[in-house]
Amino acid sequence: MVSTKNVAIIGSGIAGIATAIRLANKGYEVDVYEKNSYPGGKLSHFEINDFQFDAGPSLFTQPENVEELFRICGETTSQYFNYTAVNIACRYFFESGKVVNAYVDNQKFADELKEKLGENPDNVIKYLNDARKSYDSIGVIFLDFSLHKIKTFFQWRIFKAFANTKLSYLVSSMHDYNENAFDKKETIQIFNRFATYNGSNPYVAPAMLTMIPHLEQNQGTYYPVGGMISITKALYQLATKQGVKFHFGKAVASIHLKNNTVHALSVDNKVMTYDKVVSNMDVYYTYKNLLNQPEKAQKVLQQERSSSAVIFYWGIQGKFDQLHLHNICFSSDYKAEFDNIFIKKTISEDPTIYINITSKMEASQAPAGCENWFVMVNAPHDDGQDWDDWVKKCRKNVIQKLNRILATDLENMIVAEDVLNPKMIEVNTSSYTGSLYGTSSNSLFAAFFRHPNFARKIQNLYFVGGSVHPGGGIPLCLKSAKIAAEMI
Ligand code: FAD
Repeated sequence: MVSTKNVAIIGSGIAGIATAIRLANKGYEVDVYEKNSYPGGKLSHFEINDFQFDAGPSLFTQPENVEELFRICGETTSQYFNYTAVNIACRYFFESGKVVNAYVDNQKFADELKEKLGENPDNVIKYLNDARKSYDSIGVIFLDFSLHKIKTFFQWRIFKAFANTKLSYLVSSMHDYNENAFDKKETIQIFNRFATYNGSNPYVAPAMLTMIPHLEQNQGTYYPVGGMISITKALYQLATKQGVKFHFGKAVASIHLKNNTVHALSVDNKVMTYDKVVSNMDVYYTYKNLLNQPEKAQKVLQQERSSSAVIFYWGIQGKFDQLHLHNICFSSDYKAEFDNIFIKKTISEDPTIYINITSKMEASQAPAGCENWFVMVNAPHDDGQDWDDWVKKCRKNVIQKLNRILATDLENMIVAEDVLNPKMIEVNTSSYTGSLYGTSSNSLFAAFFRHPNFARKIQNLYFVGGSVHPGGGIPLCLKSAKIAAEMI
């Protein structure tokens, strides 16, 4: 007889593992099916000739979302996972030669912006205080609760939060808001960049997104010891200890329904019965492939996709003292870059380049005398582009730009190399069109249009991960796991 408490989770991305931990901790029998041979989905890792590379995410914020999972299981986080605070959230480079350190200490950051760019420090402090206030009132509601359950809206704090929401958050774009908030174009560019944290376009996305810097500047930026992969490793270990059973190399082929209620899954031509199913797979492919509901899948596509990326993983022979853990070399024409990504579906010839170097934090991440560079350029989602051709052009432009900014000859220093493009992201993790964050937040109501953490017309089917509410990125994926587990 089937237990009344057995749950299947499709996918072992960060949200799938977190949901498994929460449900196992509540006494459910949990099976996780993962098509890859390893856990973590986008949050995975590989090595070339002793150069360690995190394949996807590189920025770690809100460690409390990870800690909470250990706490509810009665475990001590530090026995599984350690992290350190980083004092410079990002180092920004401009073609003009200006270099700005985004110190996590806000006063220091404001003073830096005054010294390097001539920005009024009061503007910076006020902006970050406003971001904190918005996050603490309205942000928390958008991120910690389902927006698709009526009871969410019948709370006094909701009325208070909406009443205190600035009109400009609702009627302005992020860029327009930033243009009003700051005096200097470089400061505007720095704060516009936060739209890319959920794959959106700052010239279109609502000013509400100006609360994103709160996560990095007010709450802090952290480095997980051993790199980002240690988050996956620690949570996988915790899940296993809670009794979760992982089945790797097992792609779920279909979800079976009886009277619009989930009752089984097909894996390897076998049908297994379950009381509840949680899909950590992209919601589009869940409807299209596993439920054979193409019309419902099509509805998910009414929202614009988030951006994707081209990533070069470079083992660099040599050291760059001018670089930090997180670095950004800005495009000279930011507006054109976003027009290229979201309208023309191409990559700028002068792209903004992000470089993450974990060997700056731990020398063991690269061989002696070397650095491990994760070099990312924002790109459109896959729309049938010739990625081999685009990657070739992009590589050339990136090297030329970095040679200019860092006064170097990079080509001769690359001793190990791999590359990831939007098509490959889709193949590796079944994320529709390779979008990094599911749908974008390029409209005021985007948060409401994201798919809920449950299926409205199918009983006992739940959704977690970057393609559903509250969205992509590690903190939000972990919040989706909490919302779904509490619903279950
Ligand atoms: P995913 O990681 O999407 O995993 C889904 C899993 O489901 C995969 O393992 C897949 O194999 C499996 N699966 C799919 N179909 C099936 C099936 N039929 N049967 C069984 N298994 C299946 N976020 C940050 O917070 N900070 C960053 O700095 C950051 N940078 C990023 C950079 C890159 C290059 C990328 C790609 C993403 C980045 N993100 C970042 C976003 C973040 O990685 C994702 O939002 C998050 O990891 C998504 O987790 P998820 O739980 O949705 O699952």
